[in-house]
Amino acid sequence: MKIAIMGAMPEEIAPILEKFESYKTTEYAANKYYEVNYKGVDLVIAYSKIGKVFSTLTAATLIEHFRCDTLLFSGVAGAISPELKVGDLVIATKLAQHDLDITAFGHPHGYVPEGSVFVEADKELLELGKTVASEMTKEVREGTIATGCQFIADEDKKNWIGEIFGADALEMEGASVAVVCDALDVPFFILRAISDAADMDASFSFDEFLETSAVESATFIMNMVDKLVSK
Ligand code: SAH
Repeated sequence: MKIAIMGAMPEEIAPILEKFESYKTTEYAANKYYEVNYKGVDLVIAYSKIGKVFSTLTAATLIEHFRCDTLLFSGVAGAISPELKVGDLVIATKLAQHDLDITAFGHPHGYVPEGSVFVEADKELLELGKTVASEMTKEVREGTIATGCQFIADEDKKNWIGEIFGADALEMEGASVAVVCDALDVPFFILRAISDAADMDASFSFDEFLETSAVESATFIMNMVDKLVSK
């Protein structure tokens, strides 16, 4: 087993890298990849930079170049569901690209020919996630995540994404990572801790809670890693 652990921003992987005394840094495809052996299992850790393009590149690199066979994503997201509060965790059961739009040709939002609107997460990793969640005292929910290359800070736009995709949370990388993993047949698990409510206060909330929410997500992901390495 070789596990990829990915985030979009430095703050999202910092709490994971902190757990290790040393790691090997490799520069590849204009990015840095951190390799470490943890309890006998190889991990490759990286942040992609923000958005679908960079996250696609990093996910594909982790799989095709570093030969990872399982991918875990740790990061933050804006809440759509009013039940989700800052710091709550959302495990993605399925993901869609909310800004993919060829509706002019009669297709549904998020659809491209020969693709599908939603990519489903791996069932075994979801089960493992449930076990980890049951052992933590945190609020952890399963939900649909919508991804697009925009920071959403607008109540109307957020509600539109919620209605069209039935999404509980939104962010900027999950669905692209899911597409890559699905195409390359690599099981993936995408976890997000809420940093904001994707409303007019979103940028302030994001700045205030990015680090604490990133730690919430990273802690859960490391518990997943512990379960995976002890299998
Ligand atoms: N503050 C950063 C930009 C953050 S963009 C800077 O100035 O460099 C937001 C990041 O957090 C993305 O990686 C995205 O996946 C996630 N995210 C959190 N809240 C979001 C929201 N309301 N809309 C879109 N993405 C959000």
